[in-house]
Amino acid sequence: MIAAWRAASPGRSVVLLEKNKKLGIKILISGGGKCNITNGSDIRMMLKQFEINESRFLKYSFHTFTNTHVLDLLHEQGVETYVREDGKVFPKSHDAEDVVNALQRMMLSAGVDIRLNASVHEISKNEKGIFTVNLESESIQSVKVIIATGGMSYQKTGTTGDGYSWLKKLGHTIVQLRPALAPIYLSPVPPTRWQGTPIRDCRLMAVCGKEIISDWHGDLLFTHLGISGPAALEVSKKAFIEFELGKLVSLCVDFFPEKTNEQLETNLFADITSNANRSILTLTEQYVPQRLAEYVLLHSNIDGIKKLHQFKKEERQSLVATLKNWCIGTVKEIPLDRGEVTAGGVALNEVEPTTMESKIVRGLYLCGEILDVAGPVGGYNLQAAFSTGYVAGESAAKTTLIVERVE
Ligand SMILES: Cc1cc2nc3c(=O)[nH]c(=O)nc-3n(C[C@H](O)[C@H](O)[C@H](O)COP(=O)(O)OP(=O)(O)OC[C@H]3O[C@@H](n4cnc5c(N)ncnc54)[C@H](O)[C@@H]3O)c2cc1C
Repeated sequence: MIAAWRAASPGRSVVLLEKNKKLGIKILISGGGKCNITNGSDIRMMLKQFEINESRFLKYSFHTFTNTHVLDLLHEQGVETYVREDGKVFPKSHDAEDVVNALQRMMLSAGVDIRLNASVHEISKNEKGIFTVNLESESIQSVKVIIATGGMSYQKTGTTGDGYSWLKKLGHTIVQLRPALAPIYLSPVPPTRWQGTPIRDCRLMAVCGKEIISDWHGDLLFTHLGISGPAALEVSKKAFIEFELGKLVSLCVDFFPEKTNEQLETNLFADITSNANRSILTLTEQYVPQRLAEYVLLHSNIDGIKKLHQFKKEERQSLVATLKNWCIGTVKEIPLDRGEVTAGGVALNEVEPTTMESKIVRGLYLCGEILDVAGPVGGYNLQAAFSTGYVAGESAAKTTLIVERVE
């Protein structure tokens, strides 16, 4: 939508083809329907959130069309926004629809011909350099095409990965598609009692052998098949890479990432001496969510019915060891379709970062999630789509578009 708006702004003739009957369905479900539009941090900090090769690729577009530019445009359209303490930016209305409506208004006033229920089946280019875009009942010809078909997750929203196959046919390399920001299904499946239980402010570690391959400080949530929530989503991308290689990846929780084992033991000891007649289970429930306490004790080989005055030093140390490193299971599956983002995609070295033009097929531009870019939670992925979309639209508009419909 940003690419279409930008390409049409200098007066070019632009057609936007959207297979759904509505625009921006991904945006409508983003941020739980509230749409975390972008992040309020400065551009250098934003770029640091991406892998180094991604950040190099995005540098030009992020500096060309910044988070401030995005927000200024939305403000012009009457969408008020605010920055949360954690840097995430949302519409004040908490309604993602306001963002989509604003983008639609921008496109309409720039003269974009928006066609809904317009599913593209194929894109080809002839020897004269003209592209043919095939829809169900018509073909559109153009000298420039921008592909912004997104990733391959949440396929019900329309992102079924169509663009990857067109681009593969046109000679592009598609880096293996992988889930990112996805829930993690565990083996064994968590006990039913844990479902819906959050662990707040923990450190989740994905461990392979003795190595922590990824970790994240934040909340996690037990689901019926495993874990979700920000911490799980953030470690999913790297956990998947090792899991795909056939390695056993364990997920372990540190309930108190800010405390050392010694500090935690001192805290426990103080609580024990203040009320020696309580049970060990009651004390443990003070430290971990109630529904998890008996399992934490089981893992530590401690009988929770015992009174605190019977709590031996080695048992206390065992409990502390579990609180700092509780293995909740191993990866069973990380489903691509449930990922908020698809990692992998069009190889970045095949796209010109200052124009978003394909280096393989001239006149073809790519932007958004279809590229091999996947940022963390925090508004970074929409910003990547907006920034690359802007640059693609602007560059595509630099030569006259010839659009001729073949009925
Ligand atoms: C549940 C969820 C929550 C998210 N929350 C956030 C968030 O709060 N903040 C954030 O920054 N990111 C968030 N993301 C990620 C973000 O939404 C995407 O990275 C971003 O929308 C990608 O933009 P895009 O334009 O590349 O692709 P998309 O927004 O996916 O748009 C691609 C469009 O192409 C259309 N299309 C596909 N194939 C065809 C075809 N053959 N013919 C015609 N049209 C076609 C699709 O229908 C779709 O509308 C979230 C993602 C999900 C799934």
